[in-house]
Amino acid sequence: MATRTQHRTPLRIAIVGGGIAGLALAARLDAARFRVAVFEQYPGIPAVNTSLAVWPLARAALERIGVFGPLAAASPSIDRFPIGTLDGGAVVAPPMPGSILVGRRALLTALHDAVPAETARVDARIDLAAGRAPEVDGAPADLVVGADGVHSAVRRALWGEASAAVATPWLAVRGVLPLRFDEGEYGERWGRGWLFGAGPHADGTNWFSAFRSELGPRDVDVEAALAELRAHAAAAADLPHATTAILEAVDPGTTLAQRIHAAPPLRHVVARRGAGSRRRPSADAIGVPVALVGDAAHAMTPNLGRGAGEALVDAVTLAGLLAERPVDEALRAYDRARAARTRRLARASDLVMRVALAERGQPWRDRVLRVAAAATGGRRTGPAPAPAPATAPAKAATTA
Ligand SMILES: Cc1cc2nc3c(=O)[nH]c(=O)nc-3n(C[C@H](O)[C@H](O)[C@H](O)COP(=O)(O)OP(=O)(O)OC[C@H]3O[C@@H](n4cnc5c(N)ncnc54)[C@H](O)[C@@H]3O)c2cc1C
Repeated sequence: MATRTQHRTPLRIAIVGGGIAGLALAARLDAARFRVAVFEQYPGIPAVNTSLAVWPLARAALERIGVFGPLAAASPSIDRFPIGTLDGGAVVAPPMPGSILVGRRALLTALHDAVPAETARVDARIDLAAGRAPEVDGAPADLVVGADGVHSAVRRALWGEASAAVATPWLAVRGVLPLRFDEGEYGERWGRGWLFGAGPHADGTNWFSAFRSELGPRDVDVEAALAELRAHAAAAADLPHATTAILEAVDPGTTLAQRIHAAPPLRHVVARRGAGSRRRPSADAIGVPVALVGDAAHAMTPNLGRGAGEALVDAVTLAGLLAERPVDEALRAYDRARAARTRRLARASDLVMRVALAERGQPWRDRVLRVAAAATGGRRTGPAPAPAPATAPAKAATTA
């Protein structure tokens, strides 16, 4: 008997969410073999163009999709990730060979353009609580993919309310400014209970900060967030020149402020039909299997700069397995390939955030950074250089 992957009847796939994960998956699914619809609640591509770090595995995923070359040509590359104490006394710079800093809008546009013309785009919010799979090409989907981000409705419908996103105590504030600095000015600095970083961006400099705040959780007041950020800066003794220059130039109109959310780690990122258990979700509520990709599967704090990259790897992995194996087998293999790895990354990212934003533990943390910097030859010497004009080339830096 033919299986679905032998494609006597093309598999209907409903992708809920047209962000990085959803578009990357749609771009990699062969339209001659699958009927695909992407459901996105907000039409158009968001204007936000802050940087995302694309690490080697994410780069390989973008190469498979066929968009890495053009993105790399228009994005700054980085080969190190400098992190240090606020005073610049200790800097460690883990290598990131072959990585680029890509604007979110540029990435979404490239993925959007790579989706086959045959794939349906539906401007709609999907709510699986109704107990039905969305329709693709006039019939219920055979497979639903939740690519609907940290607040995933798909995850909540099948994995339960315990899987709902959790607000962290921290706020992320970020933006892009038409300023450029020398390479040595870029990087991420950890102060007492706050961090500040900046990296090169195709349009100048991408900057970001995180700190504990009571603002939000939704519709965070940007002016109030900037006032809190400036209060941290004012309390610091030796601020790097770039930080001062950026804080003088920031404009609430081009600044984003949001509470950082993370999702509880999932043991499995697929739900199949049949009896479920506390750890193994069942897809019986909608009658077709479900897979999660991107933040829906593993929303993590931004401190390792890995969420978008892992979303791309999820998408390419799932598309590759669906092309090669029957659906159930492909989903099992996807779960094995991605669930444990992304769970570990999410835990590591959470740990890095706690260390980076340490308050009482800050002196101890800085001592560890100094030891690490001395051991890796990363101690910084001399004062930071003055900013270069907006046309100067910028080479290496980091992002959040
Ligand atoms: C401050 C900050 C900095 C970051 N920096 C980095 C970095 O440097 N590198 C990195 O790799 N990652 C970074 N990340 C993480 C990265 O942004 C996410 O991991 C990535 O956006 C996840 O993509 P996604 O497609 O899974 O989810 P999203 O980008 O959230 O997309 C989900 C889409 O689904 C849509 N949607 C939601 N619900 C529904 C519904 N019910 N029906 C229909 N549509 C729906 C949404 O409108 C959205 O378009 C950062 C995150 C933050 C907050």
